[in-house]
Amino acid sequence: EHWVGLKASDGIRRLMGMGVRASMTQALDLDTAGILAADCGYTIEKVGFDPSRYLAESPDGELELKPRSPVVTIMGHVDHGKTTLLDRIRNAHVADGEAGGITQHIGAYKVRTPGGDIVFLDTPGHEAFTAMRARGAGATDIVILVVAADDGVMAQTKEAIAHARAAEVPIIVAVNKIDKPDANIDRVRRELADEGLAPEEWGGPNICCEIAAKQGLGIDALMEAILLQAEVLELKANPDKPGRGVVLEAQLDRTLGPVATMLVQAGTLRIGDAVIAGMASGRVRVMTDDQGRQLEAAGPAVPVRIAGLGMVPNAGENFVVMPDERKAKEVADWQIEQIKRARAVSAGTRVSLEDFFSMVQSGTVQDLRVIVRADVQGSLSPLIDSVSKLKHPEIQLRIIHSAVGDVTESDVNLAMASGAVIVGFNVGIDPKAQHLADQENVDIKRYTVIYDVIDDLKKAMEGLLQPKYIAKLIGRADVRQVFHINKVGKIAGCFVTMGHIPRSVEVRVVRKGETVFTGKLSSLKRLKDDVKDVKQGFECGIGIEGYEALEAGDMLEFYEYETVRESIDPVS
Ligand code: GDP
Repeated sequence: EHWVGLKASDGIRRLMGMGVRASMTQALDLDTAGILAADCGYTIEKVGFDPSRYLAESPDGELELKPRSPVVTIMGHVDHGKTTLLDRIRNAHVADGEAGGITQHIGAYKVRTPGGDIVFLDTPGHEAFTAMRARGAGATDIVILVVAADDGVMAQTKEAIAHARAAEVPIIVAVNKIDKPDANIDRVRRELADEGLAPEEWGGPNICCEIAAKQGLGIDALMEAILLQAEVLELKANPDKPGRGVVLEAQLDRTLGPVATMLVQAGTLRIGDAVIAGMASGRVRVMTDDQGRQLEAAGPAVPVRIAGLGMVPNAGENFVVMPDERKAKEVADWQIEQIKRARAVSAGTRVSLEDFFSMVQSGTVQDLRVIVRADVQGSLSPLIDSVSKLKHPEIQLRIIHSAVGDVTESDVNLAMASGAVIVGFNVGIDPKAQHLADQENVDIKRYTVIYDVIDDLKKAMEGLLQPKYIAKLIGRADVRQVFHINKVGKIAGCFVTMGHIPRSVEVRVVRKGETVFTGKLSSLKRLKDDVKDVKQGFECGIGIEGYEALEAGDMLEFYEYETVRESIDPVS
C-alpha cells in the first residue's frame, strides 16, 4: 500500500500526471519507477535477479582450507592394462575392513590406503577426461599413464600425454606388465624420455612405477607415489561452505529418475540441499557413496551418487548448492534461457531431425539429445531400452528426459534449450505445447511403432557423424610440353589419357611415380577457349595455381572427393 512513503492512491495520481495509467498492484518498469521515486526525493537502484551471484564461488581464507584427497584418472593406450589396474586397486583396497560394502560402479571410487585416501575416476581413457575439460571442468589432479612394458609408447599413449599436458596435470608413469617375458622396461623409459617424460631415476620430474596389474605387483608402491605427488600439489579445499563440484556421469534411472555421479570439489553437499547442475535443478533426495551406502553429507573429494534432479545433467557440468529449491529452479531457468538465446542467435530455433545435420555442420550440436514421451510405462521402458542401444564412439545419444503422458509445453521448452528432438510414442500433444512448438519451429515426432523410432534416430545419428572424405581418381593426363605465356605463367600442353578433367578439381603432379605437388587448376583451355571439362582422348592446356615447376613427361592426376557416411546399428 505504501511505497517510498507514498500512498498508493497518491502514486497513481502522480503517475497519471506523468501520463502513465497504473493500477494499485501493477509492477512499474524501472524507468517509470525511477522517475516516480525521484519525484518523492528518492533514488532507486537496480537489484535485479543476478544468477551469476549464486553460481560464483566465494574466495576462501587460508585458514579455512583443509587438506583433501587427490583425484586420479588412469590413461594410456588400449590393452595396456587400464581396466585391470582400476579393478585391481578397487578390489584390493575399497572393501578393506568395510564389512558389507558392495562396490557399485558409479563412475568414481575412493580407496583407503595406509598413507591416505585416493579418489579414482572410473572412466579410463582420455575421451572422458577431454569431454569433461571441454565443458571447463578440471576434475583430475593427477594422471596415471599406463604403458605396457612389452608394447611401449603407442599412439594413445602420446595422445594421453598431450591431454594431460594441456590440462597441466602431473603425470605418474606406471610401466605395466613387467611380468611378461618380452617386457623391456628400459626401452619404455627411452621412449617416454623421447616424449619429454623423464623418469625421476634419470633426474626428471616424473615418478615412474613398475607394476604388473594382473598379478597385483607394485600396486602399493604406486599408491605411495600418488600420495607423494599429491603432497607436492598441496591439495586443499574449504569443507565449511555450500557444496559445489562437477558432474561425472548422469543417466536416467527407471525407478529413481535422473541420477548423477558428482564429485564434491569444495564445501559440503548434504541430503536435502537444493542444487543446480547446468540446466537441471532439484533437491538431493538420495545420496549414496561408491559402496551404495546412504550418506548424510559429503565433503571435498568425495564422489557421490545423487537422485533428485529434475532432469539429467551433462557430464562435466558444475553443480552448485543453492539457498533453496526455488532459487535453484530460477537459476536453472536462467541458464536455459541463456542457452536458448545463444542457440537462437547461432542456429535459428528450428529443431528437427532433418535439421540436425545442418546444426552439426554449424557446430552447435555434438550429440543427439532426445526427449521421450510414451502412453504408458509399459511402452516407455522398452522404448528407452531400444533407444539406448544406439551407440557410436563419436556420437552420443542422450535421453535427457522421459515421461509418461502427452507432450507438454515444458518438453518443448527443454527441447529448444538443449537442441533436443521430441519423440512421442502413442501420445498426443498438449495444445499449448503444440502452439509453442509451431511458433518456435520445434519438430515433435509422433510414432506408433518402435521400429520407426529407432530407424529415424539411427538416421539422425548417422547425419551427425562427420562425413569421411575419400579421394576418387577421375582422370589422368600426360604433360606433352610446357610453355610460358606472358602474364599467365606456365601452361602445360596435355593429353587426357583417362577419364575426364572438370575445371574445378584437385590436381596432383606425379613425377617418376611420386606426387610432387597437390593443388587446384588455375586455367583449363581447349585451343583458345576456356572450358569446363575435357574428355579422354583430347588435348588441352592446363595451368596450376601456385606451381611453375611443371615439366614435360609429368603425369597429372585429377581427384574428386566423395563423402561416405557410416551407418549405425543397435548394439546391446
Ligand atoms: P585397457 O584396454 O588398457 O583397459 O587394458 P585391459 O586392462 O583390458 O588389459 C588388456 C589385457 O592385458 C588383458 O588381457 C589383461 O589381462 C592384460 N594385462 C593387464 N595387466 C597385465 C599385467 O600386468 N600382466 C600381464 N601379463 N597381462 C596384463
